[in-house]
Amino acid sequence: MGRLTWQRARVVGVLDETATARTLTLEIDAWSAHRPGQHVDVRLTAADGYTAVRPYSIATPANGSRIDLTVELTEKGEVSTYLVGGTKTGTELEVRGPLGGWFVWDGADPAPVQLVGGGVGVAPLMAMLRAHDWVAERGPMRLLYSVRSPKTLLYATELAGRIRSQDPTSAVTVLYSRASPDTEPRPPARITTSDIETYGLPPVPGTRCYVCGSTGFVEAAIELLIEAGFAADNIRAERFGL
Ligand SMILES: Cc1cc2nc3c(=O)[nH]c(=O)nc-3n(C[C@H](O)[C@H](O)[C@H](O)COP(=O)(O)OP(=O)(O)OC[C@H]3O[C@@H](n4cnc5c(N)ncnc54)[C@H](O)[C@@H]3O)c2cc1C
Repeated sequence: MGRLTWQRARVVGVLDETATARTLTLEIDAWSAHRPGQHVDVRLTAADGYTAVRPYSIATPANGSRIDLTVELTEKGEVSTYLVGGTKTGTELEVRGPLGGWFVWDGADPAPVQLVGGGVGVAPLMAMLRAHDWVAERGPMRLLYSVRSPKTLLYATELAGRIRSQDPTSAVTVLYSRASPDTEPRPPARITTSDIETYGLPPVPGTRCYVCGSTGFVEAAIELLIEAGFAADNIRAERFGL
């Protein structure tokens, strides 16, 4: 089936990540394998035929006919309100994809990778980080994840495990912007160039950067990466809007 054809997707798993975000595992019969970083369009249709379509990143690497989407509630948002609050196991949705050919990481590429995510913008970066786990001959990959507070932290259990493991080829740093846990030495603040220099990879030539989040976050993070010495033409960005 073509990637622009709408397909039925059945919710087979629901995980409330936080009070306002949910990961949905979807089963799609004729799913063609996707690449880390790609997204799908989700279409909801009301009883009167009205439709709403929104893009959502795939948070997991290719895994047969299953994909995970992590959706953060947007206040009064048409589609996110339903996906976060109105879905349960067995709910049927329509999706098309996989979509996007630029914001993708090729697992066979051994170049170092710096990931920078803000809020739910971490979702496609998780697909990259998780795919990286499966690569035998892998270059280093680091994730800097800026999040408001522990209450809005996504993938909390998995990220805590990754931080504990202190794997030098796959390091994760959570940077809290408004409120941080008592154990956190860094005071809450927006991400800075110094954070990138302290917790990120060194900006050696050839390092690839992937940045994702709200448009404001992405614009700021790109500037910081360039200030920290990363080459502008090796930075790929995905803007979620607003
Ligand atoms: C490539 C891509 C990937 C994405 N991946 C994800 C992801 O993985 N997870 C995720 O959570 N999001 C993701 N997004 C964002 C997602 O597509 C939606 O934009 C988001 O969920 C909000 O959609 P909504 O229908 O809930 O809100 P909408 O109904 O679109 O509303 C958004 C906001 O605009 C306001 N608004 C809407 N219409 C008007 C109007 N006429 N006048 C004034 N205000 C208005 C609403 O009050 C609300 O605050 C992605 C976006 C892109 C582009």
